[in-house]
Amino acid sequence: MSSTNLPLLDSPYHSYTYAYPHKTAYRPFSPRSLSDVWQEQNKQALFLYLHIPFCEMRCDFCNLFTTVNASSTIETEYLNALERQARQTKQSLGDMKVVQLAIGGGTPTYLKPAELERVYRIIDIFNVDYPRVPASVEVSPATATADRLHILAAHHTQRVSIGVQSFVESEVKSVGRPQRNAKVFRALEAIRHSGIPVLNIDLIYGLAYQTPQSWLLSLQTALEFQPEELFLYPLYVRPLTGIGLSGKSWDDERFELYQRGRDYLLAHGYQQVSMRMFRRSASLAGQGEYCCQNDGMLGLGCGARSYTHELHYSSEYAVGQESVKSILQDYIRRSPQDFAKVNYGFQLNQDNQQRRFIIQSLLHSSGLSFPLYQQRFHSDPLQDYPQLQSLFAAGLAQQTDKRITLTAQGLAYSDAIGPWLYADEVVNQMSSYKLS
Ligand code: SF4
Repeated sequence: MSSTNLPLLDSPYHSYTYAYPHKTAYRPFSPRSLSDVWQEQNKQALFLYLHIPFCEMRCDFCNLFTTVNASSTIETEYLNALERQARQTKQSLGDMKVVQLAIGGGTPTYLKPAELERVYRIIDIFNVDYPRVPASVEVSPATATADRLHILAAHHTQRVSIGVQSFVESEVKSVGRPQRNAKVFRALEAIRHSGIPVLNIDLIYGLAYQTPQSWLLSLQTALEFQPEELFLYPLYVRPLTGIGLSGKSWDDERFELYQRGRDYLLAHGYQQVSMRMFRRSASLAGQGEYCCQNDGMLGLGCGARSYTHELHYSSEYAVGQESVKSILQDYIRRSPQDFAKVNYGFQLNQDNQQRRFIIQSLLHSSGLSFPLYQQRFHSDPLQDYPQLQSLFAAGLAQQTDKRITLTAQGLAYSDAIGPWLYADEVVNQMSSYKLS
């Protein structure tokens, strides 16, 4: 694509904008009390997220905060700390209401059934109205067992997301994941029999040995289980992970696979919600009173992020196993008083709040609504950020009366458009971050 006025768009694969600012822009700050941080925020429509940082293996492409083969002792100590954090957080925030719930990781179902039950007892601290609150849990092929799924279903889980990545065993093996299809099929059948209404399957394109034909085979196999949602992720080579793919030809391969995957799903009754997300029909996931632009995200657990309008905070971030273990040990030792304060994150000024709103809206198929932006910031996005006009000239976005939406080409370039809208200050912080 020719995009001389948008140099960043020369490649569609800059980086995945799943949260702005990225965690690598976070830094230590003077401790602030939780009650102070949340004082000005609407606490009646919160998204509660619990992070379980354990996996049975480390996938080479993964840069999430997680550790492998944790012992039962570590798991118990972790859940003890999670409970201390939950109690302290409830006390600090006071009157609050959870309207959306997610348990992620890592792999939450790495926990044994009794430990999973305990996670729900911890969630009970927040008086979650389960049947009315959309709840989502991440699982893996090895851990989506009938007994665990039964616990999730008993707590009204409405969506289960499973990372399959590929149904071609040699392809998943190339990213450090020795996975057998027989086990994947057993897990998918167990999910379909569990009564949990929404199944999401994650797949990856751009893997070593993957061809357009093998990619379509994975998509076709996934559809045999009639998932309500699919996420198609381009493979990224991330620092401290062990993959050696790069270059323009790899960009071209990923772009071709993206287009084939998108066309295949659109032809099979799916709608495109974002570059990655495809939904079969109106599902329960994503409904409810929570709206991601409203920023009331309360994260519990080591590695979880929390968002208010003005502050994003978390524990420290790492990918390397030694650093992850050290941060985890620090978390496990924290007292209730420690959990009453936060000291690591990113303070969002007005410019970054506006950019975050625009990025999150624009990268979703529903687009950027001028009235919603006006309601929140009392201004006009095209006046605040005239560079958005260049997306129209490049054929990446279109404007109707009161909304900007990305074109099909624009959605395909989401991973370039997102970073192109980052503030210089965020770019500088991200590039000076030393990942350990
Ligand atoms: S991709 Fe999922 S299963 Fe693999 S290491 Fe990351 S969190 Fe664990």
